Amino acid sequence: MGRADLHTHTRASDGELTARELVDKALQKKLTTLSITDHDTIAGYLDVKEYASQAGLELISGVEISTIWNDREIHMLAYGFAPGNDSLRALLLRQKRARKNRMKAIVSELNKKGIAIEYDEVMAEAGSGNIGRPHAASVLISKGYVASVPEAFIRYLSNTHLEGITTEYAEISEVVAIIKEAGGITSIAHPGPYLTLSEVEQLVKYGIDGIECIHPSHNFNVQRLFTRFAGTHNLLITGGSDFHGSPKSEYDPYFGIVTLGTQHVEAIKRSCHNRKRMLKSV
Ligand code: AMP
Ligand code: ZN
Ligand code: FE
Ligand code: FE
Repeated sequence: MGRADLHTHTRASDGELTARELVDKALQKKLTTLSITDHDTIAGYLDVKEYASQAGLELISGVEISTIWNDREIHMLAYGFAPGNDSLRALLLRQKRARKNRMKAIVSELNKKGIAIEYDEVMAEAGSGNIGRPHAASVLISKGYVASVPEAFIRYLSNTHLEGITTEYAEISEVVAIIKEAGGITSIAHPGPYLTLSEVEQLVKYGIDGIECIHPSHNFNVQRLFTRFAGTHNLLITGGSDFHGSPKSEYDPYFGIVTLGTQHVEAIKRSCHNRKRMLKSV
């Protein structure tokens, strides 16, 4: 039986590796299925679609979308959608703009605190990838304000520091509708550190299809809790390592270790297949 990693990032967002390097690394680790779930972009996935298939690695379309729910940021994973869907492309374009505007607001908050960084420096760090807080963290490190990415989050960038900043991220209901229309499924990313079980219960009422039960931030008990919840609520089980590449993330060592069994991948693929068939019949 094969092993899958359905949560990874590349240089198309805040990861360190190119999509091609990530595919090579997945093959080295003997993974059979991979999903590249960059923040609000599928550019990395599109880059290596052909390459992965030639190399014999199953690649499932994926993305991690930042959404807003009750003034809180919730990460939603989406899989198995048609990447060319117009509504999805329009959504990702809007999200890209929202990320830029949010970073401008973050930089101006930091400036008020006496931190001398500029938006253009953070943009340069992101390169052609979608901008995000880890890029701001890198600038803070290179300017000597902090020593590490975790320290940058603890001192300046975590959600609690950003409460005054409004974002233009999409609402959950809109994301769910668009992914359905594109023939894909949605899953709540890494609920363990962020959401209570009752909040997850409220969220799935929006029509979310699955829960990311398997994630490096989930210990055995948390994993069991959400896996049972998925079972009783008839939800898909998704999971992966949230690999970003060193030194951006503490989850780095889990690539090839925190994996999802292929029976769950088959269930995800079946759901997407059925969804696409339903779309064709209407
Ligand atoms: P953003 O896309 O701007 O919302 O930033 C989210 C990303 O920041 C996550 O995907 C992680 O890569 C990183 N991140 C979030 N919280 C932390 C943290 N406490 N320490 C290190 N990295 C973090
Ligand atoms: Zn990230
Ligand atoms: Fe996330
Ligand atoms: Fe992630």
